[in-house]
Amino acid sequence: MANRKVCIVGVGKIARDQHVPAIDASPDWELAATVSRQGSVEGIPTFRDFDVLLSERPDIEVVSLCLPPQPRFQYARKALKAGRHVMLEKPPGQTLSEVHELQRLAAEAGVTLFATWHSRMGKGVAGAKAFLAGKEVTGGKITWKEDVRHWHPGQEWVFEPGGLGVFDPGINALSILTEVLPKPVHVIRAELAFPEGRQTPIAARVEFSRGVSMELDWLQTGPQTWDMEIHTTEGSAVLKFGGNELWIDGQAQPAAEIEEYPALYARMAELVERGESDVDLSPLTHVADAMTLGRRVSVAPFAF
Ligand code: NAP
Repeated sequence: MANRKVCIVGVGKIARDQHVPAIDASPDWELAATVSRQGSVEGIPTFRDFDVLLSERPDIEVVSLCLPPQPRFQYARKALKAGRHVMLEKPPGQTLSEVHELQRLAAEAGVTLFATWHSRMGKGVAGAKAFLAGKEVTGGKITWKEDVRHWHPGQEWVFEPGGLGVFDPGINALSILTEVLPKPVHVIRAELAFPEGRQTPIAARVEFSRGVSMELDWLQTGPQTWDMEIHTTEGSAVLKFGGNELWIDGQAQPAAEIEEYPALYARMAELVERGESDVDLSPLTHVADAMTLGRRVSVAPFAF
């Protein structure tokens, strides 16, 4: 397949850490331009205005939106209306209905919309899904504890409405859970800890049906924890390191070779080639439900 031209919008942490290297290393893609208010990628044409990019570069058929969720919808809408295929960073929107609208626009324009979930490409996730298929889940536990100051240095948007707070990493766990479970679960109880004066939670405990629970904490310094265990009547699966290591009944399992972001771009190439979209909103639905149902507690103020 010939190289497809892709434009990155929003040259921030995730674009630099993952998207640019994944595109550079891929035989399917060519980074043809970026759109950035102040940054750039060396050697790549930069546009300060997205409308100008869309009108001047009809050769770029794919737009990869690496923006925070708050500004993302307006960019996605413009790109789809201009007939471009669109790749969304996670979470795919601030709300479910924003993404429903993007799905409608993509269908209308006959283009691909890919709501990516990078953690679903973790090296142990497919193995966990295969192990759990057809089994009866008796319980499970997600422990996602990381240091927000390390992973989101100075990113005030995570504490603004639509930024999801600790569910920004927590939704990665939920993207794995919803991928591997043989039958869905739903939120039955939640407790959300909001720092005084902030709009999103910094810690959360969520209880789901089928005995599954989740503990999220954004103030963990030292070793970071992104673990999930799922128990069934026929054994247990444990995923460590954000889905990248799989243990079944205490035995380490072989892992997939491809890294998360190269796997996302390979999937996008496949979707565009086939003229398909891939949008699964179940992880965002769980977050919305936890926010709707959650009991709110106030905790100490937070500053970066
Ligand atoms: P970020 O560095 O704070 O922001 C990304 C870029 O978006 C900024 O550098 C800026 O680019 C642009 N931007 C920010 N606010 C904007 C606004 N109001 N209007 C227009 N453009 C704006 O965020 P990030 O960490 O890369 O995260 C972006 C997305 O990736 C989030 O949804 C996050 O959940 C996801 N993600 C992040 C990580 C991580 O480790 N941080 C990991 C996986 C996924 P310009 O200055 O170039 O305009």
